[in-house]
Amino acid sequence: MAEFDVDLFVIGAGSGGVRAARVAAGHGAKVAIAEEYRVGGTCVIRGCVPKKLLVYGAHFAEDLADARRFGWKVPDCEFDWKTLRDNVLSEVTRISGIYGETLENNKVEVIHERATVAGPHEVKLASGRTVTAKYILVATGATPAIPDIPGKELGITSNEAFNLEAIPKRIVIAGAGYIANEFAGIFHEFGARVTLVNRTNVILRGYDEQIRDRLLQISSGKGINFKFDAEIERIEKQEDGSLLVYIADDDPIACDAVMFATGRQPLTNLGLENAGVELNDRGAIKVDDDNRSTCESIYAVGDVTDRIQLTPVAIREGQAFSDTVFGNKPHRVDYDNVPSAVFSHPPMAGVGLTEGKAREKYGAIKVFTSDFRAMKNVLAGRNERALYKMIVHPETDVVLGLHMIGPDAPEILQAAAVAVKAGLTKQAFDDTVALHPSMAEELVLMR
Ligand code: NDP
Repeated sequence: MAEFDVDLFVIGAGSGGVRAARVAAGHGAKVAIAEEYRVGGTCVIRGCVPKKLLVYGAHFAEDLADARRFGWKVPDCEFDWKTLRDNVLSEVTRISGIYGETLENNKVEVIHERATVAGPHEVKLASGRTVTAKYILVATGATPAIPDIPGKELGITSNEAFNLEAIPKRIVIAGAGYIANEFAGIFHEFGARVTLVNRTNVILRGYDEQIRDRLLQISSGKGINFKFDAEIERIEKQEDGSLLVYIADDDPIACDAVMFATGRQPLTNLGLENAGVELNDRGAIKVDDDNRSTCESIYAVGDVTDRIQLTPVAIREGQAFSDTVFGNKPHRVDYDNVPSAVFSHPPMAGVGLTEGKAREKYGAIKVFTSDFRAMKNVLAGRNERALYKMIVHPETDVVLGLHMIGPDAPEILQAAAVAVKAGLTKQAFDDTVALHPSMAEELVLMR
């Protein structure tokens, strides 16, 4: 008789958990995975995927307006939120189904129940059943962190945004990070009056300052309101169903919805203490470079470890875990030069060091910029300038960072990130002939 029921028990069928389960099973391990909600996790069900589809849907507001300048007779169009919402939700169901099929095809047992850790090798299911495992992988992700203020229950988070009955006429978004800026763009394009309220005067902390400033300038120009250095004190419901958001030393803001986009906290309420799994000061599971927790048989990947909260990173961590533990192919995730993007309107994207970080590290770095209006925007009469920035090592000429805002910036940056990751020099960019006319050609024309 086997010592354990399974070789690997994965808690959480999101991006990291599904990858780990599938790969471990491929290496011959007997694997079970528990998911209390739907297979796919945040990215597929209530994150990247439906968000990106809403971004596409929202951008038609600008495309339809621009089309008239390109000679198209566009009648006055109406936007029907429920059509988009329901189409997006059925696409989510389709992708979730594919994830489920992948697990089944790899002979992973999928358990649709909440699972908690009962000991170093034991998992307890909501039904009362216990399963023993040689290894347990925690891949439970994170959940929106909501400030503890009176009336917080009147607000929504990005989780609920995909299921709204209607687009609110006026929405206050708390926070100024990824989710706040992405949803500010989405709601604004759908016709809502959007006010972003942030506790500091910084949007998208961590991104290059000039690129952030450009987004702020463009977003403000479009009519998105920003309130900085503003703490929300409480939210009250009015008799007519609308809300009043009270901010210290300022007039309250009247709105129809409040969305909290104030960070995400790791989901660790799982009985981890039963196995001596320690958390760090941010409440995330402490792991070593091989994703192993302070309990030898328990590992963790993805947002629950709060290293870089991005889907492709969680997927790589899941892959590295399973290859190392079950595949006899040990490897680790390389966290250098991880590209990222914000799907705002226009989007921004970056890889490597920002100008500020590069100066801190190397002193007098070289900075090349291209500040231009995309051809399409010129003809459309859209006064919206793109900005590309290249940060270069002063002696070696190696490109240390690339940051951009403008149409299709994430698509362009992904390709250019290969060059940055490969340690190419500015000269290598300059040696590449421009592809004309394109926006991306600016990358090889920076002088
Ligand atoms: P972010 O960390 O991006 O932004 C959080 C925002 O909330 C900041 O403006 C921060 O202010 C503010 N804030 C934090 N704590 C509080 C608090 N207690 N009270 C009031 N304000 C607060 O988080 P998001 O929620 O936007 O997104 C979570 C994570 O999900 C991101 O960090 C990212 O890793 C991932 N994500 C990635 C996306 C992508 O790849 N495109 C899209 C969406 C999410 P300040 O910084 O000024 O202190």
